[in-house]
Amino acid sequence: MAVPIVFLGIAGGFGVFIGLALVLIANPIIWKVRKDGYFNSEQFQALRTDVASVAAEHNDVVNYVAEIRAQGSFELGASSTGQYAHLATFENTSSWNNRRDRNVAEYAPHVHNASLQVVRNASMDPIKYLMKYFSIKADKETLTDVQHVADDVSRLEEAVRNVQGRETEIVARINPPTFILKRYADEFWNLVGVHLSPITVPYPSYKFQYISAGGNSGQAVDIRLDTSTLDALSETLAQKIHWAKSAAGQRALMTARLRSWIKDRDNHRCVQCEISVAAEPHLLLEVDHLVPVSKGGLSTPDNLQTLCWRCNRTKGAKMPA
Ligand SMILES: [Zn+2]
Repeated sequence: MAVPIVFLGIAGGFGVFIGLALVLIANPIIWKVRKDGYFNSEQFQALRTDVASVAAEHNDVVNYVAEIRAQGSFELGASSTGQYAHLATFENTSSWNNRRDRNVAEYAPHVHNASLQVVRNASMDPIKYLMKYFSIKADKETLTDVQHVADDVSRLEEAVRNVQGRETEIVARINPPTFILKRYADEFWNLVGVHLSPITVPYPSYKFQYISAGGNSGQAVDIRLDTSTLDALSETLAQKIHWAKSAAGQRALMTARLRSWIKDRDNHRCVQCEISVAAEPHLLLEVDHLVPVSKGGLSTPDNLQTLCWRCNRTKGAKMPA
């Protein structure tokens, strides 16, 4: 910035130099005047009142998202040494809050240092290499654990997406001038009464990395356990333990496909309070086990129902821990 000003100062004389300097100093003041004018306008105040109930509900869902994040399990235990490691390294936190760091913190990736060939193969066949090098065993206990993580990851993915959808709708309804969101986003959301959600999905992550002997070249493959990877892992485990061939196994694997099928079957409506997506476009719906998995309930259509987040949250609060 300094260079062109000095250059112009020399080339165009002091008039240009002072003129440019004034613009640079005055700019923030001009933006502030424009911003204050917009936030104080009757139009903005009216729109703020208009979205007040949407903003309040948005904040409720944000708190719900924080609860899911705090109570769910987002980690499969594994060891980079290739030895058997038990599947439960998630640190459970019984109380939660909205602290920023807590809600965005990710778990450290599990790292396996390998040859270049293994790293390359892992990128071609991630599920196979994940199981082999991180001791994810093909047994029913592991499958149950993977299904548990998959359920929590997908709930959180959907809830985070729901919050983002609500924020998009609030912006669309207020439709602020571009410079407001570009320069004064925090102030905008504060005045609208929305608590922004910094919450992310803490995906379990597995990494294969190769570092050359000299350390100056390397290659790495990251495998992130999102819903589609977790579904693939569940299906692979079920095949390997021949569980999928049993009658119970065939009908009892929870996947994104099944969750979406249940919501379709229930007409995207909460079977308890009967509120539907047709009535409330941003409704957050979840698929719930009538008999919980922990009590032997299967992921079969007759044991699954669609609940809205409010009913599911109330049900969860009533369940013994
Ligand atoms: Zn409901």
